[in-house]
Amino acid sequence: MNNQTRFLLNETDIPRFWYNVNADSPVSPAPVLHPVTFEPVTPDFLAALFPMELILQEVSTERFIEIPEPVREIYKLWRPTPLIRARRLEQVLDTPAHIYYKYEGVSPSGSHKSNTAVAQAFYNKIAGTRALTTETGAGQWGSALSMACRFFELDLEVYMVKVSYNQKPYRRFLMETYGAQVFASPTGRTQAGLAILASDPDHPGSLGIAISEAVEVAATSNGQKKYSLGSVLNHVLLHQTVIGEEALKQMDLAGEYPDVVIGCVGGGSNFSGLAFPFLRENLKNQKNSRLVAVEPTAAPSLTRGVYTFDYGDTARMAPIVKMHTLGHDFTPPSIHAGGLRYHGMAPTLSALYNAGFIQAVAVKQLPVFEAAVLFAQTEGILPAPESAHAIRAAIDEALEAKQAGEKRVILFNLSGHGHFDLSAYNAYLSGTLEDFDYPEEAIANISAHVPQISRAVS
Ligand SMILES: *Cc1c(COP(=O)(O)O)cnc(C)c1O
Repeated sequence: MNNQTRFLLNETDIPRFWYNVNADSPVSPAPVLHPVTFEPVTPDFLAALFPMELILQEVSTERFIEIPEPVREIYKLWRPTPLIRARRLEQVLDTPAHIYYKYEGVSPSGSHKSNTAVAQAFYNKIAGTRALTTETGAGQWGSALSMACRFFELDLEVYMVKVSYNQKPYRRFLMETYGAQVFASPTGRTQAGLAILASDPDHPGSLGIAISEAVEVAATSNGQKKYSLGSVLNHVLLHQTVIGEEALKQMDLAGEYPDVVIGCVGGGSNFSGLAFPFLRENLKNQKNSRLVAVEPTAAPSLTRGVYTFDYGDTARMAPIVKMHTLGHDFTPPSIHAGGLRYHGMAPTLSALYNAGFIQAVAVKQLPVFEAAVLFAQTEGILPAPESAHAIRAAIDEALEAKQAGEKRVILFNLSGHGHFDLSAYNAYLSGTLEDFDYPEEAIANISAHVPQISRAVS
């Protein structure tokens, strides 16, 4: 009997290539449109925001893209990450299911976000960029990019969603320790921020607004600063595929193959990073894993949003992409999973979901925290509230398997730890956590909040 719990790889097993799902995807991506002209964007427009190497990755259809050696060197600080069988959770649930999780919380900044932060800082460095701007929700992305920018000696300005800036001051201290400058968004530093503050001085902020501010600062810097995004874009999803490539090898070590692969979705990067290599196996090697994206009912872009062209940001400065969206001016309720408070979803993931290759479920905040606490009490790890959405879905799968009396192999991504989210746990434990639902009235008419693209887009 094999009773192994942790499935570990060696440093030499760190993937040498990222996997580009767009080489195999049966659905071709829609064009990215200019926010003013609605015409397909030119590389010139994108070059104001991103270094050329990342723009090329954004549109690449090459199946495997080599990971530069300096990036792999830094990956060695936390990769390969462990795959762990949640035996104690299985026992408490009394389920015949086998539950595995890939633990990305071992990275120095505490989440999967470091996987792309290091790559983006590297490509900016070799392109001669001096400084980066970015947004952050809960602070996970800001922390990861702060570390990466320090490693490559780049300056960094972080526009942090105000509600998280106030709820999570320790994330700010971490970013500042790495050497970044952090601002509570909406700020008075940009036209986009000033416009929001003029209509509502107490606006809690949103990822959409923070993106507008960071994009504006980069776009108006005369090439001095570039912009960096922690999710949504193809190159970000690409960089995260190290998670799934390692997990494939580790499931092999465990002698099992997942019936279902689960991840939480904000912009879609940690889910895609785990799921896309398994999707490749579905498409090319006759495997049949169900791939399940888990979102909060408070920001249900996949399960309740419309699939259409929309702006990536609130002030309509970022490119327009075709995605599942709740409308670019939608401000999700202030749930504690700040990293999941985004109005849209990665275009590549949206297209795959629309075509039926991916499934999605939405879960409410209270059951998510119940799952998080059960996980902490059985497996010992305090999960990030974002990751706890995946735990909720994994537990629900395991309970279904128990009802059906079948063995089911479940793999989920534990995208980060929750050591900076203790005030959220305190709210849950003291009974003051709200159970946010989809704000029906706020987004009853999403189509009024997305751009009307009148001309046919080929
Ligand atoms: C940012 C974040 C997420 C959500 O972003 P994705 O791009 O959808 O992965 C999920 N989990 C953690 C821990 C995060 O920091």
